[in-house]
Amino acid sequence: MKIALIAHDRKKDDLVQFAIAYRDILSEHTLFATGTTGLRVIDATGLEVTRFRSGPLGGDQQIGAMIANNDMDMIIFFRDPLTAQPHEPDVSALIRLCDVYQIPLATNMGTAEILLKGLQKGFVDWRLIQERRG
Ligand code: PGA
Repeated sequence: MKIALIAHDRKKDDLVQFAIAYRDILSEHTLFATGTTGLRVIDATGLEVTRFRSGPLGGDQQIGAMIANNDMDMIIFFRDPLTAQPHEPDVSALIRLCDVYQIPLATNMGTAEILLKGLQKGFVDWRLIQERRG
């Protein structure tokens, strides 16, 4: 499965801790991330992560394009709900595309844990069928 990891600045430490805790599950999948988040995850875990541009420079939109192309299976996006983001329209657009295409999206650690545990149990396997449809 293809999983995208994104964290706003004040949530990056949380995402790094999450990636360390769930390294075993994450290592079985193909990982993508926005620029700075990806760097932090790679440094902390040694996981292989394809990095896009930084979020404010278009990284969220690059991930959105993968969703629109039926080429992304899950988004883990630790948003900062207390800080205004310069790229708020991109954030909303990404979340919207997840809803358009029924892509599992976690915006906080509590949900992200459930998504990864569900992934491990095969609850997201329907994506494999969906992907073949293109
Ligand atoms: P970043 O982008 O990982 O490059 O910081 C995330 C964001 O703030 O959208």
